[in-house]
Amino acid sequence: MNEKKIWLSSPHMGGNEQKYVDEAFKENWVAPLGPNVTGFEEDIKKYLKKDGSKNEVAALSSGTAALHLALILLGVKRGDEVICQSMTFAASANPIVYLGATPVFIDSEEDTLNLSPEYLEEAIKDRITKGKKPKAIIAVHLYGMPYKVEEIHDIAAQYEIPVIEDSAEALGSSYKEQKCGTFGEISILSFNGNKIITTSGGGALIARNLEVKKKAVFLATQARDDAPHYQHSEIGYNYRMSNICAGIGRGQMEVLDDHVNKRRDMHQFYKNIFKGVSGIKIHNEPDNTYFCNHWLSVICFESSSKEFSREGLRMHLEKENIESRPLWKPMHLQPVFSEAPYYGGTIAEKLFQNGLCLPSGSNLTQEDRARISGSVQNYI
Ligand SMILES: *Cc1c(COP(=O)(O)O)cnc(C)c1O
Repeated sequence: MNEKKIWLSSPHMGGNEQKYVDEAFKENWVAPLGPNVTGFEEDIKKYLKKDGSKNEVAALSSGTAALHLALILLGVKRGDEVICQSMTFAASANPIVYLGATPVFIDSEEDTLNLSPEYLEEAIKDRITKGKKPKAIIAVHLYGMPYKVEEIHDIAAQYEIPVIEDSAEALGSSYKEQKCGTFGEISILSFNGNKIITTSGGGALIARNLEVKKKAVFLATQARDDAPHYQHSEIGYNYRMSNICAGIGRGQMEVLDDHVNKRRDMHQFYKNIFKGVSGIKIHNEPDNTYFCNHWLSVICFESSSKEFSREGLRMHLEKENIESRPLWKPMHLQPVFSEAPYYGGTIAEKLFQNGLCLPSGSNLTQEDRARISGSVQNYI
């Protein structure tokens, strides 16, 4: 293994990040506030904007922090229940437990790999029958693929349950030309190192009005009441983004669309490789109302044998120093959530068994592609 490692998704700087960081040092804005924080928030707000849509952005220390605050802002308390897509990263579900609430997990559907509308409705009805109406629904655009926006939001509206839109993987994706991050009652983004753009670590809460954003910032900065001394009437958090990280974010926003195009190009590259390969299905947009950033390109083995399987391909790539990874292990199969209620069948479980994420970074070179292609061809 002497060749350089090909990562699943690694940070990719555009060039101007350093300039914004240098400005922060020059002006001594080395703090969790400053012009980069405000500027980064404005950049995201402009990017998400569609005529008539209202978005207010609060830059935070992580996507997880944004989810935690979203749940608090929606009034989730000890003993409440919150519905959550089972097939996701644990960070979607953990903040429910931070608040002493219980997650209720839901299976995926096969078109988008996201929240199943059928099982969602079944769960809501059953929880209501059991005497507990869920306080919120956490829906995720996994791997950048928009969930079934209309179906999910229709059900949520019918039962009057707010949706928290986990758009951590979906900045740059859209549904019917409306950007992901603008659909939820509250939406969140992540800028962790492996995401479509990064601030080294960070996140954002997207609110639909200024009042909610202000409340989010208040909670994220230790909930200090308006007084000359330190006065608190609520429990606060230290969740604001630093002005240094926000500087990286401003540079990254300049290259976001370019990164989306490059990731989509990687997906096209895999489509060509797997065209005509029987037994392997590549995860595509269900139709042209969906626009996926293809944060990660995903394939699924439809059949598997000793010679031909997800794990077989993964280990084959690993031997050549190429990183690939199984899809997220569903939350209802995680030891830590073994007690949580679950509604659904085995769709997410099968996706976990047979699905593989392939190297998808916007910074992969022609040489990297040749290595990946050669290695995959060799296996199949
Ligand atoms: C990355 C991620 C998060 C958490 O974001 P952090 O910024 O890493 O805290 C939440 N949900 C999903 C689906 C993610 O992929």
